[in-house]
Amino acid sequence: MSELFSIRRPQGPIPASDKVRVRGMSHEELGAWLTEALGAPRYRSDQIFKWIHEKRVRSFDAMSNVPAAERARLEELATLEGHALDAVATAKDGTRKLRLRTSDGQFIESVLIPNDERGYTQCISSQVGCALNCRFCATASLGFLRNLHAAEIVDQVYLAQDMLEREAEQSGAQWPERVTNLVYMGMGEPLHNYNHVRSSLGILTDAKGAGLSGKRITVSTSGLVPAIERFGREGLGHEVGLAVSLNATTDAVRDEVMPINQRWNIATLLAAVDGVPMQRRRRITFEYVLLAEVNDSDDDARRLLRLLRGFRCHVNVIPFNPHAHAPYRRPDPERVRKFMHILRTAKLPAYLRTPRGDDIQAACGQLALEASA
Ligand code: SAH
Repeated sequence: MSELFSIRRPQGPIPASDKVRVRGMSHEELGAWLTEALGAPRYRSDQIFKWIHEKRVRSFDAMSNVPAAERARLEELATLEGHALDAVATAKDGTRKLRLRTSDGQFIESVLIPNDERGYTQCISSQVGCALNCRFCATASLGFLRNLHAAEIVDQVYLAQDMLEREAEQSGAQWPERVTNLVYMGMGEPLHNYNHVRSSLGILTDAKGAGLSGKRITVSTSGLVPAIERFGREGLGHEVGLAVSLNATTDAVRDEVMPINQRWNIATLLAAVDGVPMQRRRRITFEYVLLAEVNDSDDDARRLLRLLRGFRCHVNVIPFNPHAHAPYRRPDPERVRKFMHILRTAKLPAYLRTPRGDDIQAACGQLALEASA
């Protein structure tokens, strides 16, 4: 029997800062703060927002159209502190794992996966470690250190884009490659850090900043029902995509592999997901990690079809990526094929997610950090 479900408490808060973290402010918040703290004219917030989020400068000094006196004042009151790029590993398939060191010396990871649109899909982290205890996930074994600030969520994207631009410069490429898509599927449970994740979405999709399209952003959750309801109420379903890690078709199995199910079971979870208002053409994504002899039978496939009947959705089937912290195995290819066949025969849009970057431990669930081991 698994222990009763609990959401771990963080080992600590987001470190306090005596300076304002301007990279984590929305355009509006920045404007209000600049007026109050600097008495700056209205148009200044446009300029400064662009410097931070479009040009991604890392010092106030670089903001050449801001008067020197205001820059000096910004230096005193505000900070652009971000992560340091600690290490980059490149897999044979082109997937890149970035290890970033936060300003308080924690390590987080972010993964760049080449996509079909000649850009990168970046998988970003929302917490250091995770409060949940999914049995197949390597991040769970780290414990839950703390939430990431909105500034720390967006900085992952900026550091990755900076790296791609440096590379283009070095190789003499005419255009740098771009991060075009984002998935909140790295370390942590995004909806457990709701406020900072929501702020980060607003910042990253602001047309005056990074200008990413909400259509190309997906937030993935293990099934934190009250937060899914809030996501729906606040209209985020109209802005970005929602992915739900289902990973089992019976409560008995899901209780075991994802203890959060002991609090909000499959029926409760699916009812909450069904209640999220979404853009008309948008589909919910369900993720289904295939664990050999745990959730990969023909009956599982048929139950999955029944559970998802009526949803505008697609399913990402992810054969388990093995790691030292989990007692599971990846099903053999024939079992995977049969599982997929049942879903597809019933016309459920199901995609097999082949492991990316597994030779550098960057595949799903492998973002446990050698550095902190
Ligand atoms: N906490 C969020 C986002 C992080 S997990 C969530 O649960 O959705 C991102 C995805 O990776 C989830 O669908 C999860 O089920 C999957 N995953 C985790 N560990 C895995 C592993 N070892 N192999 C394959 N997929 C895994």
